[in-house]
Amino acid sequence: MSVPTKKITVLPGDGIGPEVVSAALRIISATNVHLEAEMQEAGAKVFAKGIETGVPHDTIASIERTHVVLKGPLETPIGYGNKSANVTLRKLFETFGNIRPVRELPGVDTPYKGRNIDIVIVRENVEDLYAGVEYMQTPGVAETLKLISRTGCEKIVNLAFEYAVAEGRKRIHCATKANIMKLTEGMLQHTFAETAAHYPQIEARHILVDNCAHQLVMRPEQFDVIVATNMNGDILSDLTAGLTGGLGFAPSANIGSDVAMFEAVHGSAPDIAGKNIANPTALILSAAMMLRHIGEGKAANDIEQAVLVTLEQNIHTYDMQGGSRPYSTTEFTDAIISNLGRHSSTAPARETKALKIPPASRDVGRVAVSSRHVIGVDVFIETTDHPDTIASALGQMTAGSVVRFLSLANRGATVYPQDGAPVGLVDHYRCRFLRDQHGDITDAEVLDLLQRVGSKYPWMHVEKLQQFDGVDAFSKAQG
Ligand code: NAP
Repeated sequence: MSVPTKKITVLPGDGIGPEVVSAALRIISATNVHLEAEMQEAGAKVFAKGIETGVPHDTIASIERTHVVLKGPLETPIGYGNKSANVTLRKLFETFGNIRPVRELPGVDTPYKGRNIDIVIVRENVEDLYAGVEYMQTPGVAETLKLISRTGCEKIVNLAFEYAVAEGRKRIHCATKANIMKLTEGMLQHTFAETAAHYPQIEARHILVDNCAHQLVMRPEQFDVIVATNMNGDILSDLTAGLTGGLGFAPSANIGSDVAMFEAVHGSAPDIAGKNIANPTALILSAAMMLRHIGEGKAANDIEQAVLVTLEQNIHTYDMQGGSRPYSTTEFTDAIISNLGRHSSTAPARETKALKIPPASRDVGRVAVSSRHVIGVDVFIETTDHPDTIASALGQMTAGSVVRFLSLANRGATVYPQDGAPVGLVDHYRCRFLRDQHGDITDAEVLDLLQRVGSKYPWMHVEKLQQFDGVDAFSKAQG
């Protein structure tokens, strides 16, 4: 990607954000790289002004001008209220890849000292459960849509391989839950296997994400790059941050074709905000990633080396164990500035090539198929009736129609037909209907079915059961 100027947008953010962003900006200034910083707002203060997205127009316009953002953490209400301004920013600028590197750091005591942990999580950043498409299906049953696209999988898998190439890394694990979510998580797994064939120099392995978490704790040194869907990548990357000293040390880059945003993995840490005790390392290392991205590789290396030297000198903020006394955020920053130009005795600067990022495409992503059929319909209904009662009613309702009632599921488990009495039922059933003869079910027939079902049971959700190229495009009913 060509970066037009060395202008950047800076979002100080909430909580400890302004303190750690200011530390990073002071260090950048001390490297003699001249950046023009456009200071903008997003997050809590913007929500308080009544702007629902938490991202005002001026901020969007600034990012469209600069293409590069250094960002402090933004507060999101948990379990209620506005959508995350972070997620809005990632989606607005389609920063599809979140790169989260961690490595063993000198002077930072962890149970893994000496194991040479050096891992990068490449997390899909705009799809998955983070699409935030949620519905209350009944007053007591909530639903979220896990949307995964082939285009999204290709972009994140390519980014992971290109990142490995740029950093001379040797191995990529694709961590998924494809054993359970065969269509969504499975799509990442299949895309990964196909893409790996184009990178024979890199060892490509698939691993189930739960085992990946276990292996990360048991033998983290076996991992190099890990690619994962949004939610899994989010959780794994907090875990890897924990292996190397905690959130205070974990940087990240949100990479898109047009815009890149650099921020710490941690949040606004309101409990320590305004006390000048936050660890600025994560944001400083994020700023180094930003400098590398805009072609200031020497300054990036200088900052990373100065951070390592400072830690080697046992200069610590309060969140680290060991060291003589905790340094304040500003004292710690001063120490890093005074170490610019020195070289770490424990970790030499990594040699990197420019990261190849695919250009933005305005095409609508689509996978072509040669045949498609609608062979059935799932209708989701709300009722407290017993499965036998529902089954009998649905059988009668659909008599004489083109569809045949097949089965009932409750929270994914088949409860009709079933041997023995089902337990743990809730008032939310999936009713599966299949076409009786060959041919497609038409929309008129779907509407006729909904009218028949709706005459007794309120329905809130409908899914067509499709076949693409003769393959069922829906999950089997779980026994
Ligand atoms: P958090 O802000 O990351 O803080 C969790 C804890 O980690 C803090 O209480 C603090 O622990 C420690 N910590 C984090 N960063 C630190 C630093 N730089 N230096 C020293 N200690 C640090 O997570 P949270 O409390 O779950 O989330 C708070 C808010 O941040 C929420 O509104 C959340 O939505 C938001 N958030 C934003 C982003 C983002 O903008 N990208 C990311 C994550 C969360 P001690 O108790 O040990 O001091």
